Amino acid sequence: MKKKLTALSVYLLTALLVFSTVAYAAAENNGRDQGKLFQYSTINAVMQGQYDGEMTLKELNTHGDMGLGTLNGLDGELIQLDNKFYQVNSKGQVKELKGNVKTPFAVTTKFDAEKTVTLSNVKDFQDFSEKLKTKFDNKNHFYAIKIHGKFDSIKNRSVPKQTRPYPSLTEVTPHQTVFEEKNVEGTIIGFYTPNYASTIQVPGFHMHFLSDDKKKGGHILDVKFDSAKVEIQQLSEFDLVLPDTADFANADLTKTTVEDIEEAERGK
Ligand SMILES: [Zn+2]
Repeated sequence: MKKKLTALSVYLLTALLVFSTVAYAAAENNGRDQGKLFQYSTINAVMQGQYDGEMTLKELNTHGDMGLGTLNGLDGELIQLDNKFYQVNSKGQVKELKGNVKTPFAVTTKFDAEKTVTLSNVKDFQDFSEKLKTKFDNKNHFYAIKIHGKFDSIKNRSVPKQTRPYPSLTEVTPHQTVFEEKNVEGTIIGFYTPNYASTIQVPGFHMHFLSDDKKKGGHILDVKFDSAKVEIQQLSEFDLVLPDTADFANADLTKTTVEDIEEAERGK
């Protein structure tokens, strides 16, 4: 009798645990998946010239369908759209990449927009940032954004492939190529990182562009448009995979300042 009771209590306890886990998950997710950011390496590693990674695009694709980054050797700008990868090289040429190509730094998410907002009269990058930030419900979470539209003007850059010994990113960006497009249709892919995480990702908005004809793109330095719909997804979870390389193991990742990142990523 005693044995039977114990078995029953174990059963009840298990049932209770299962139920409470399900209830917690339902409350937490509110019926939809939490947005999750996946990132390989850190922005301060890239700033210090860590341009070779072990992550293949094929693997990156298992963590998300929309993202951005760069390629081994800092060989241009990377854009991931609908699970396909595009490289914009320093001549501004766009090429679709195969899954065996490796990246030293990339960010991706399984994009599932929770709301769409309209931004109007966007004069420049600063104006874009200020207007979009007011639409965020939580100023300390990360966000993914996607904008498909026609842009009056968009200024993209790409960086030239480097050889070892690698210079720092602030030494490379004076040699970047800048392409200005007018009245171009395409997709902006971007991520918002709160300032407290500025050693991990570019603080504020980090955005890349790919034109609809897949012929133009790059890392966005400036943008101007009359009106566009911005799809937004809040990202409340963050998976960070760090490179397991000798370069990364021995790097001094304490030296990068926010000013260095602004100079390298915004052209300031
Ligand atoms: Zn970029």
